[in-house]
Amino acid sequence: MKVALIGVGQAGGKITERLARFDADMGFGAVQGALAINSADADLQSLDIVDTQLIGADRVNGHGVGGDNELGTEVMQSDIQQVLGSLDGRVTSKSEAIFVVAGLGGGTGSGGAPVLVHHLQQVYDVPIYALGVLPGRNEGSLYQANAGRSLKTLLREADSTLLIDNDSWHEQGESVEGAFETINEKIAQRVGLLFASGEAIEGVGESVVDSSEVINTLRAGGVAVLGYATEIASEDSGENITTAMSVSRQALLTGTSLPDATTADSALLVIAGRPDAIPRKGVEKSRRWLEDETGGMQVRGGDFPLDSDRLGALVLLGGAERSDRIEAFMERAREATDAQETESTDHADQFADDRLENLF
Ligand code: GDP
Repeated sequence: MKVALIGVGQAGGKITERLARFDADMGFGAVQGALAINSADADLQSLDIVDTQLIGADRVNGHGVGGDNELGTEVMQSDIQQVLGSLDGRVTSKSEAIFVVAGLGGGTGSGGAPVLVHHLQQVYDVPIYALGVLPGRNEGSLYQANAGRSLKTLLREADSTLLIDNDSWHEQGESVEGAFETINEKIAQRVGLLFASGEAIEGVGESVVDSSEVINTLRAGGVAVLGYATEIASEDSGENITTAMSVSRQALLTGTSLPDATTADSALLVIAGRPDAIPRKGVEKSRRWLEDETGGMQVRGGDFPLDSDRLGALVLLGGAERSDRIEAFMERAREATDAQETESTDHADQFADDRLENLF
């Protein structure tokens, strides 16, 4: 799937750069253009291979918006014409989707990404997706509150929002910085493989995934989740049937970007590995298992030929917002928002349908 990437804020820029680098290093050619946008000049200076654009210079003079995501929304709104202008040539007629990438707990990405998605929807015909990073449980209440409002607004604006929870995809006990590095690396590999799996690979059998299957899986809207797991492939193709099942199971049950997300409206299963190591029967069995596990809907699927001694499973779920993890996160975000508004003594507020306000 040919994509254009736009990173907003610090995390958005770093992850966009990782994705662009992984795609280039692997020679996939799925990432067509990449741009990083920020109100903090220093964060943009630390990026090497993506193009950059500073916003909000007249308001914050290149110093960023701190954790103020409403200011993040405002500076994106004021400079939106310049941002759209700099996308000329980066979003090309070949682009099949645009991904706006951001950490949802901060200021510039949290507030700016939903505005950008909104405007991109008016200009481009291709799907506009968000790739959003949720703050981990241990991040402060400002991060939780910011991410709650940002997620709510993104779900309204984007065609689908692929969520990465900062509590997933890293080892226990890593420093925060170390964990970010690990998570960013994994996002680059896994999301990078998802983009590449929708690319036509020459000279390979008929079951390669097509871009439209990725897009159709995301058509459910709402929250999307990505899972991944690999194991060493065996010389014996019979044994690889068990391995295919095992990696598919791990990808869904322990390897997802959002823990405990197993209820979905749509799913895609890609088995990656050397073509002679991918067992037809194992792929079929894994697909049927995934169909049962995710509530009985049809699972799209295909192979991804990769020169590797491992067999990998990549699972994409669409419409996966009905998960305990999302519920727990939204509750945390609401509590954090309430705690920030301690002056409010209107108890009726507690019974309002939803205490999180949209950002705009
Ligand atoms: P912004 O520059 O104002 O948009 O703020 P940040 O991008 O620093 O966003 C803060 C949120 O993103 C917090 O929830 C952080 O935990 C998270 N974050 C910051 N940097 C990284 C990173 O490199 N990787 C990941 N996975 N998360 C990050």
